[in-house]
Amino acid sequence: MPDYPDLSLYIGGQWRRTAETLPVLNPATEKVIGQLPVAGRADLDDALEAAARGFRVWRATSPRARAEVILRATALMRARIDEIAHAITLEHGKPLPQARMEVIRGCEFFEWDAGEAQRLYGRVVPSEPGIRYLVIQQPVGTVAAFSPWNFPMSQPARKIAGAIASGCSIIIKAAEETPAGAWHIARAFHDAGLPAGVLNLVFGVPSEISSYLIPQPQVRLVAFTGSTAVGIHLTELAARSMTPVLMELGGHAPVIVCDDVDPDAAGAMSAARKARNAGQVCTSPTRFFVDEKIFQPYAAAFAARAAAVRIGDGMLPGVEMGPVANHRRIEAIEALVEDARAKGAKVLTGGVRPNGPGYFYPVTVLAEVPDDARVMHEEPFGPLAIINPTSSLDEAIARANALPFGLAAYAFTHRAATVDRLMTEIEAGNLSINTLEASVAEVPFGGVKASGQGREGGQEGMLHYVETKTISHRMALETAPMVSGARQ
Ligand code: NAD
Repeated sequence: MPDYPDLSLYIGGQWRRTAETLPVLNPATEKVIGQLPVAGRADLDDALEAAARGFRVWRATSPRARAEVILRATALMRARIDEIAHAITLEHGKPLPQARMEVIRGCEFFEWDAGEAQRLYGRVVPSEPGIRYLVIQQPVGTVAAFSPWNFPMSQPARKIAGAIASGCSIIIKAAEETPAGAWHIARAFHDAGLPAGVLNLVFGVPSEISSYLIPQPQVRLVAFTGSTAVGIHLTELAARSMTPVLMELGGHAPVIVCDDVDPDAAGAMSAARKARNAGQVCTSPTRFFVDEKIFQPYAAAFAARAAAVRIGDGMLPGVEMGPVANHRRIEAIEALVEDARAKGAKVLTGGVRPNGPGYFYPVTVLAEVPDDARVMHEEPFGPLAIINPTSSLDEAIARANALPFGLAAYAFTHRAATVDRLMTEIEAGNLSINTLEASVAEVPFGGVKASGQGREGGQEGMLHYVETKTISHRMALETAPMVSGARQ
């Protein structure tokens, strides 16, 4: 098994080293595992030039031929799953089986979009005799994309898949702390014969790269996943040139637990899900509003399963949760727990950082948390859950909708009438009932309110990467110069 990749930028079909590098750390050991190349202005200029050339070639390539390249690259990623998952666990900390699942998920995004882009149908609109109206979809141009560190492979896969499948070129700045997933994607596309310049991968100082790329006239879509604050900043930058944005931002997912479900099963399932990716998921279930009739057994089952989560280096067999990805998360979570504790929340389990190296933090369950605790409205983005009792469905829905976020929401219930109300009233882009899965390749995913704009995946995801153009085609020259057509 090769260890961590020897990282480089990928610009215009060439691998490129840089004079300046930054260390990449293993969050389980805090040891340096690799060196990240830092792109300078000249690298970005080359990437823009390459992306312009790549776009000219790629837009003229048929959707079927594009799909063939994508599927070849995806087959390579599937064949290299052990190597890619190994690198992801080293740089991110997640357990190896979760890293493998992530690679598969990333491949599914590519496979879905490769098929979906072949169905970007236009239409012929019936009208008066002698004129035809055609509506066609064309790739937007160069996409500037920014992917975060929580899913090093599947997050860049989402954006690269949409761009390449639809015929765009892309410059992606992947996360500095977890660069290997995106690097492996670029390697697979290089080996699969993607024309030079269609995919360009850079790393560096995020604010410098985004502030340089976004205002470029050639950039026709900005796609970002990350925090709401940064998303707003990038949207403002893009607005100056009327460049559209695709923003997948923060969440603070509510879970409504009704009294008709088994509290032990639902509690244990919720805790296991909270531990996934150490809670560093924008859809991670966080605010559990539990019917007071089953609050005690649900909270007890949740806390028991949370306390039993096996924490350790993700490389070790049997480990269920690795460290959080960086020291910033530890500090943020500790501060939220201390604040809630000081305001009267009960700590059912966790809440104490273990000694030793690595950014480890236990799954922490807070109960009966007052509304003025920061964690009630700030996304913890870590293994931290809040369980509060509710006395009615009305109250649960009101509390679920109380925050500016609206990404994922969940509920446990078997009552059709309750599901019907939730479908109508919950303010979120994705609602999942009796499952804590919120996003798969074949359905659209994204947020409302401060959780973002636009959708990734499904049919809807592809539409961000194309422009709709209307063509009016009259079969003969018009005879009346001033007035034409019956409607004018
Ligand atoms: P952060 O807000 O500094 O960065 C979030 C992401 O945005 C990172 O990937 C970073 O590289 C990128 N970024 C930051 N400034 C940028 C800029 N000016 N231009 C382009 N990209 C920029 O915070 P962080 O400590 O890295 O992450 C913590 C917070 O980010 C979390 O609380 C969470 O809300 C959010 N986050 C969300 C997701 C998600 O899947 N929606 C993923 C990662 C982080």
